[in-house]
Amino acid sequence: MKLLKFGGTSLANAQKFLCVADIIEKKNKKEQIAVVLSAPAKITNYLVTIIEKNIDNDKILKNINIAENIFIELIKDIKKIQSFFPYKNTKETIEKEFNKLKKIINGIFLIKQCPESIQPIIISRGEILSVVIMKNILKSRNYEVTILNPVKNLLSIGNYLDSTVDIKESKKRIKKININQKNIILMAGFIAGNKKGELVVLGRNGSDYSAAVLASCLNAKCCEIWTDVDGVFTSDPRVVSNTYLLESISYQEAMELSYFGAKVLHPRTIEPISQFQIPCIIKNTNNIHAKGTLICQKTDSDENFLKGVTYLDKIVMFNVSGSCLKNPGNIISRIFTALSRENIKIILITQSSSENKINFCILEKDTDYILLILNKEFKLEIKEGLLNNLNIIKNLAILSVIGSNISEKNNIASKIFSSLGSSKINVLAIAHGSSKHSISVVIKKENVLKGMQNVHDSLFFNKKIINVFLIGIGGVGKELLKQILRQEKFLDQKNIKIRFRMIANSKKLLFLNDLINLNNWEENFKKSNKEFNLQILNELLKNNFDSNSVIIDCTSDEILSKQYVNFIKNGFHIIASNKKANTNSLQYYNDIRTTALKENKKFLYETNVGAGLPVINTLQNLFNTGDHLISFKGILSGSLSFIFGRLEEGISLSEATKEAKKLGFTEPNPFDDLSGIDVARKLLVLAREVGYSIELKDINIEPILPEKFKKYQNSEEFLFKLKELDLFFSERVNKAHNLGNVLRFVGSIEKSGKCSVKIEEINSNNPLYKVKNGENALTFYTNYYQPIPLVLRGYGAGNDVTASGVFSDLLRTIL
Ligand code: ADP
Ligand code: ASP
Ligand code: MG
Repeated sequence: MKLLKFGGTSLANAQKFLCVADIIEKKNKKEQIAVVLSAPAKITNYLVTIIEKNIDNDKILKNINIAENIFIELIKDIKKIQSFFPYKNTKETIEKEFNKLKKIINGIFLIKQCPESIQPIIISRGEILSVVIMKNILKSRNYEVTILNPVKNLLSIGNYLDSTVDIKESKKRIKKININQKNIILMAGFIAGNKKGELVVLGRNGSDYSAAVLASCLNAKCCEIWTDVDGVFTSDPRVVSNTYLLESISYQEAMELSYFGAKVLHPRTIEPISQFQIPCIIKNTNNIHAKGTLICQKTDSDENFLKGVTYLDKIVMFNVSGSCLKNPGNIISRIFTALSRENIKIILITQSSSENKINFCILEKDTDYILLILNKEFKLEIKEGLLNNLNIIKNLAILSVIGSNISEKNNIASKIFSSLGSSKINVLAIAHGSSKHSISVVIKKENVLKGMQNVHDSLFFNKKIINVFLIGIGGVGKELLKQILRQEKFLDQKNIKIRFRMIANSKKLLFLNDLINLNNWEENFKKSNKEFNLQILNELLKNNFDSNSVIIDCTSDEILSKQYVNFIKNGFHIIASNKKANTNSLQYYNDIRTTALKENKKFLYETNVGAGLPVINTLQNLFNTGDHLISFKGILSGSLSFIFGRLEEGISLSEATKEAKKLGFTEPNPFDDLSGIDVARKLLVLAREVGYSIELKDINIEPILPEKFKKYQNSEEFLFKLKELDLFFSERVNKAHNLGNVLRFVGSIEKSGKCSVKIEEINSNNPLYKVKNGENALTFYTNYYQPIPLVLRGYGAGNDVTASGVFSDLLRTIL
């Protein structure tokens, strides 16, 4: 004998009902089958509204009609697919049931309340009708069916809405029934009967439990629970991405998973099947050939001890505090006794003896009742001031990690806390499950989904994740996106995953609930109509809880650069090709660093000087290990490197500048390059990096051009006027040439900290002599590197090298 249970998700429409009938039929060919059915999806939810307080009558009547309609449509569709289905007869039964229900509801409206004993009758109608429909499908296919009445056969203990079954007695009763071995057995889930013979229910999701109970009563050799997922996953696949299917779990692990919220199984399901050692398989009606998850006695090897991350929301925490808690054992036992007398479950309890405090968590729905019970129990202590008034913290959730002997394993608790911490989620209380198979933390309900994803990622997703918010999609930003897409597979092999969360330019942004796909980001960006401004950006960032989140600034925007301190405080690392933050006031320069240090975030800006050349990182490494700068000289501008190289080949200044512009080496107006300000900015970044506290104004800029060139805003006009200087420059170049020298635009830092940018005559022994064609070169004389300096040389501009510099900064956030 095998037991099959089909949940509401497997009975959601006509096709599914008939697919379930096919499964039953197929399995019945091999052995006798007993089937437990839930109500079709959503039906119980509609019925539950009838017994809820504060719902108006119109809504109730509306919901009843919706539920009835679902059934009528369902059987209409079944008839369409299976023409010999007895539609009329089934419809009459449905209508009869709903008419009864409507009569009950009228009664409720009259007396303005729903008696406790009536409530389970109302909410279990879905299960009753599922059995009627399935019986009619099977009979019309010529199968004999035996219906088991759960009210008569399953004896319940407990209250009307959340009962437990007395298996011993129920087994006896079922044994007495003479069931023909050829018949398919059908029973409505969710339902049992109390001693008085009244109908009760087994708690929401209770038909899993009905299945386990019936499997035990019938000595079934296996219990299959058919649902809408391939089995038990490491977390709810509807809530968390990248979950893994668990091939098998032990009874104990399944119990912990369901107790702490894995809805795939009702928490009480495991008790009967583990008592009778019945293996249980979770199977998917939408994917019948999938193997499913086996729940049995055995456990996996030690290395697979971790099983899942679960959550319970709608949780409330009670704080009990006061001097009488010096002896907490006594108070805890009184709380437990008082609540268990009323059948109320405490989900988690923690105590702090130093503060005379106990915290315990319960389901939100029980709050008022518990308050009443405890105020009564501790009336005297509260009156005499030995116990403070009970404090309640609402809107909480419990996030739990389940694994065999998890509390004895190193590292797990620290991973949980660091992933919650890095996503800015506070932990209000912690508990190691009494069974040692779970670690639970109490957090705010609003944080639970993010917390689930992050904790799951850190425990099960064996990858280092970087969440990117990219601002600026000009040449560098776009190239960066291309490079990252190209490297996706390569990085995957190194267990690195870069997820794009936001892409923005100065006007709009692309932000999806899901991750941004780099294969078609441009298309989606075009479609996006979300405006970009600082307020919108800050709002978005405030609501981001992903750990290891990075803002990449590929703009040259000063206002944006002034937000870095804010961004870091919001939990972001910053990567900037934008130089504006590092060349702002020294005060702001220091603020960013102090904040980053305090918040344990990185601020990386390798591309501020020499694009992708490893300048900043190299300097930091040298100085961290005790080196000091003696002096620096460098060619820090790609465009000026090109122009001065061409001058020595006999090309005029205006021609050389025109060429540089054509090749894309210059800013839109080449004046910006020739003014020397950009070189001064780079020099400032370097000088500050090596420890000089200076401002941009402290750098002595010897201009290449006379002051009047500032007024030529238009690049055509500027290039035309530049001809006026051709003669002067060619004479200067020739003069240098006659001495065996060349002209270079050089940035220098002297030992005294004096910084300057100017045209210099360079002789052939100088490492800068050969630097032209857009190359940069940086020569550092340091304690370690002298008399031969450290020289870094290579292309110092261009989208590809700059993007690759940003990319390598990005990877440094996870090192
Ligand atoms: P049924 O109607 O078949 O009883 P439920 O909706 O009650 O189905 O349970 C199945 C759902 O349980 C899945 O769709 C899934 O969203 C949820 N679930 C929660 N935790 C887990 C988990 N760890 N593994 C698989 N499913 C889970
Ligand atoms: N139909 C009931 C519910 O929705 C029982 C079940 O599905 O297991 O809670
Ligand atoms: Mg269920």
